Amino acid sequence: MGFPKNDRMLLSIINKAIDAIDDGKMEALILDATTRIDRKPTLSMIVDVYDKKTFGIISLIIVILLFSVISSIRLNNKFRIQNKINDMLSQISNEYVYKYFVKSDHLDLSKKYTQLFRTQEQLDKVRSILRDTLLSNNLDGNMPIIKLPVVDGVTRTFKGVSLNIHDKKKKSDLIIGKLIDISEQIAEKKELIMKTKMDGMTSLYNSATVKELINEGIKDRDKHQIDALIIIDCDKFKYINDTYGHLTGDQVLRNVSMGLRLTFRQNDILGRVGGDEFCVYMRNVSSADLVRSKCQQLNEIIQEINRGFYISVSSGIAFLREESTYRELFAKADKALYEAKTKGGGQCVVHSERQRMFHKGNLIWAGANYEKKR
Ligand code: GH3
Ligand code: MG
Repeated sequence: MGFPKNDRMLLSIINKAIDAIDDGKMEALILDATTRIDRKPTLSMIVDVYDKKTFGIISLIIVILLFSVISSIRLNNKFRIQNKINDMLSQISNEYVYKYFVKSDHLDLSKKYTQLFRTQEQLDKVRSILRDTLLSNNLDGNMPIIKLPVVDGVTRTFKGVSLNIHDKKKKSDLIIGKLIDISEQIAEKKELIMKTKMDGMTSLYNSATVKELINEGIKDRDKHQIDALIIIDCDKFKYINDTYGHLTGDQVLRNVSMGLRLTFRQNDILGRVGGDEFCVYMRNVSSADLVRSKCQQLNEIIQEINRGFYISVSSGIAFLREESTYRELFAKADKALYEAKTKGGGQCVVHSERQRMFHKGNLIWAGANYEKKR
């Protein structure tokens, strides 16, 4: 409340009015008035309370704290995004991360392992194999390739890379690493190798593979068993090409290969050694008659598959002697095939050289017709 300084009248009235208020009420009025005063702290009040230097230091500390909080939030966000990206990349990759705490002998597998190894039993097995591999190898760098069981008795192949972290005493403390699933790569590689070994049109072995496999067969053969090589050539095949076209010719060749598969056993070696020429290497044949009857059966099956036009094959058969090589055997079978061709279509001829053979432990002689001696 304010009054003009020189208005003595007014001042004396006011003073009297104030005097008229009793002490208790006056105290209550003063308390009420003072509590209503709006006391907003201003910067200058704060600066007054603390001296300028302290205020400056406090402000600096607050700014630094604020800055560090903001940067740590930013860093956390960055890590969170990075972790998310790593997680997503790990989901689409074929890599499985692990940590092995050497001192506590604890192997920690990342969550992704549970996608592939679904049961606890499988996970335990993976832990045990991986732990043994880690402990029995130089723990830095590449690990040997390991096979791990997944579902239904199927195994997948993994290669591993690990990094050994040492403590201050240079003792192995932690091994971090990842297993990389290379099953698909191996399957693709096998398929590629297989493709180079096969004849593209018929999916039978090509001539180079046939040679390799027959040589192996000759080498590993039990000397008491009789093996046979049959060379098979389509009769008048040029006529089929000329009359029905090359595409039909190709189909006939595929049909012949199907006939071969249907006629011979699974462990016989079947191949396409030329344009319309095939071969079969039969291991451990019981008699020449069996081989002959197989050749006749082949002709019947081929005729059945190639309905609509006549097609036959000629076969030359040679039996393997102890000292035979692939070359010798092939030459003999080829000679027999030539003979079969000269006799007309659909014939089967056994190489005429007398051969000394063993049959079920008994020494027997086989002539041109390889009659079984009792
Ligand atoms: P022969 O009874 O004396 O065996 O007479 P052929 O007509 O079968 O004559 P040969 O066996 O000498 O010739 C085979 C023919 O097969 C020659 C070639 O035109 C044909 N040929 C070779 N490779 C292929 C092929 O991949 N597809 C087709 N359609 N024909 C082929
Ligand atoms: Mg031919």
